[in-house]
Amino acid sequence: MSDAHAPTLNPPPTPAQAPKIGFVSLGCPKNLTDSELILTQLSAEGYQTSKTFEGADLVIVNTCGFIDDAVRESLDTIGEALADNGRVIVTGCLGAKAGKDGGTLIQDVHPSVLAVTGPHAAQEVMDAVHRNLPKPHDPFLDLVPGAFGEAGIKLTPRHYAYLKISEGCNHRCTFCIIPSMRGDLVSRPIGDVLNEARALFAGGVKELLVVSQDTSAYGVDVKYRTGFWDGKPVRTRTQELVQALGELAKEHGAWVRLHYVYPYPSVDDLIPLMNDGLVLPYLDVPLQHSHPDVLKRMKRPASGEKNLERIQRWRDACPQLVIRSTFIAGFPGETEEEFQHLLDFVREAQIDRAGCFAYSDVPGATANDLPGMVPQALREERRARFMAVAEEVSTQRLTQRVGSTMQVLVDKAVGLGKKGGVGRSYADAPEIDGLVHLMPPEKLSKTYKAGEFVRARIVGTQGHDLVGLPV
Ligand code: SF4
Repeated sequence: MSDAHAPTLNPPPTPAQAPKIGFVSLGCPKNLTDSELILTQLSAEGYQTSKTFEGADLVIVNTCGFIDDAVRESLDTIGEALADNGRVIVTGCLGAKAGKDGGTLIQDVHPSVLAVTGPHAAQEVMDAVHRNLPKPHDPFLDLVPGAFGEAGIKLTPRHYAYLKISEGCNHRCTFCIIPSMRGDLVSRPIGDVLNEARALFAGGVKELLVVSQDTSAYGVDVKYRTGFWDGKPVRTRTQELVQALGELAKEHGAWVRLHYVYPYPSVDDLIPLMNDGLVLPYLDVPLQHSHPDVLKRMKRPASGEKNLERIQRWRDACPQLVIRSTFIAGFPGETEEEFQHLLDFVREAQIDRAGCFAYSDVPGATANDLPGMVPQALREERRARFMAVAEEVSTQRLTQRVGSTMQVLVDKAVGLGKKGGVGRSYADAPEIDGLVHLMPPEKLSKTYKAGEFVRARIVGTQGHDLVGLPV
């Protein structure tokens, strides 16, 4: 018998006229997590998203301002959104850049934007949306707190997700303007981070990518205070965080990968967790250079550390460790000898994956005032020489994998894997590293699907990638 007083369990249909918002997310994974937060909030409030600028009632552009190319891309995207739609809200790093007369750079170039906020400003963006496109009233959704749970909306494929553990940075590297845009380090409460991680694993995430501006500094701002999670005390510190994430991941048969780790002595304590299988033996360490004088001019974190020796110790303790890094060629004052030091370092440290930028004089960066500006053509030439050496090292390292068996997380399976697939091993982070091309399974009964792990024998290399045969 039905109960006439019971609340109805079916939500009423979404109003036909729910306002639509176009969204563009540019820049790094940290920016992507800001986008996810805004999209989660928009969805929770009943806004819809539109795939095209024309089909939207308003467009939000989340910008990047890291290097000149990123600034150009951001300004062009805003221009396109204004031309196709006309109603644009801008957020993200570029939004924090000052312009003339106390305004923002974006308003100088595009005076007709509706609002501009800096990065990490979901609430300000929502306020601007409410002002310009009033919130639809949905009696069902308005009553449901946190309708999307702890994990919120993710812009990544279902099987991997970025987990941002802190915002901002306490360093002042001379080539970087991120602290002026994102402010000093603010660590998220450890309980919140672990709750989000648990929700992500429960939602099917098989690879969690930990991101921040400086992952090894997690908790410095709160003096590593003791937080609580699951009713137990846990310190706000990288070591404890990684341990807890690793244990959670183990319960779900998932991977944890660390990005933006600086070579502080404290990182030594993470290596045993890699050997124990709690976190992938992979470190993304943005070293930028090797020569101590250049590092000093760059004001790099841990610039006084003996990086080569530290890396060698890590490798001795964990031989399967993979290191990815980024470098800058042609930094102001860089001599040929200092550059040679960098080439030798990449060879000796056996950096598995390296990216390199030719130094770019980002407006507002203090490095622009350093003496000895390297001519642009020489910066480019050094970048090319660097990449040739880095690729030689990387190819040697890849070739050593032929004949081994690796676990591969499938990203794409063509025809359920009948025609092969594409995945990644522990040595490859999504978007930035290589791939493992999976050959079709020999057994007809075998299939694979995105988000599952497959064991594969590595049978060859293909450029930056490996070729694997499922076993
Ligand atoms: S560590 Fe240096 S490069 Fe990285 S965000 Fe901080 S200031 Fe910028």
